[in-house]
Amino acid sequence: MARRTKIYEGKAKVLYEGPEPGTIVQYFKDDATAFNAEKKDVIDGKGVLNNRLSEFFMNGLQAIGIPTHFIKRLNMREQLVRKCEIIPLEVIVRNYAAGSISKRLGIEEGTQMPRPIIEYCYKDDSLGDPLVTEEHIAAFGWASQQDMEDILSLALRVNDFMSGLMLGVGIRLVDFKIEIGRVYEGDYQRLVIADEISPDSCRLWDIETGRKLDKDVFRRDLGNLTDAYSEVARRLGVLPKTAQMPKPTIVE
Ligand code: UDP
Repeated sequence: MARRTKIYEGKAKVLYEGPEPGTIVQYFKDDATAFNAEKKDVIDGKGVLNNRLSEFFMNGLQAIGIPTHFIKRLNMREQLVRKCEIIPLEVIVRNYAAGSISKRLGIEEGTQMPRPIIEYCYKDDSLGDPLVTEEHIAAFGWASQQDMEDILSLALRVNDFMSGLMLGVGIRLVDFKIEIGRVYEGDYQRLVIADEISPDSCRLWDIETGRKLDKDVFRRDLGNLTDAYSEVARRLGVLPKTAQMPKPTIVE
């Protein structure tokens, strides 16, 4: 079997050269990291769940006309995506306060925002992905004015889609992060949703109980992460019934 060319290994995924030019294989690892990789663990089954969930969200976005890099899922842990140039920004959309905005501005977690708030962080692990303004983005040439208008509109559309989808299964979309890629088609460039959308990159709270169903379970030691992600997948109908194996009973 020919050895694949690894392009990049990140905290939760590995990227390989795809079978066709302009494609990439995204492999979802079970590794979980938080606080800029200060906290690390391997969580059995996380990669499989994120692969399935990201496929589900990206397909849904595509179905309502929001372009994404997703082509198809290849197997349990891998998906084929379009190669794109990643804009070095984490685009965060917040519907309710949580995490860093609560700390930064002293807003109690769970407070509804007056309207969805968009924030940009510069993607650089060595700097801890600092918050930046549109002024920095324009001055340092990370994205053009037109890109920024398109990014804002994409982020708000993704927010409406994801919020509605989650509301339908009793989950509140508190906030999420997306990454945007540029693809070139002849003389034109187009922006697409890239990377992944999964409970690793969203905050998801059960509407009735407030139970956290996202990576905060790992960040804050709130229980079993796979159980939380499986619950999201189960409610969305993403997990086939057969994949919900009963837990083994310990025989004394
Ligand atoms: N987020 C992410 N990757 C990052 C930083 C944040 O996916 O490198 C997501 C995070 O899971 C949450 C949202 O973006 O859904 C907002 O995160 P926040 O700024 O509150 O940072 P945190 O509290 O996670 O450090």
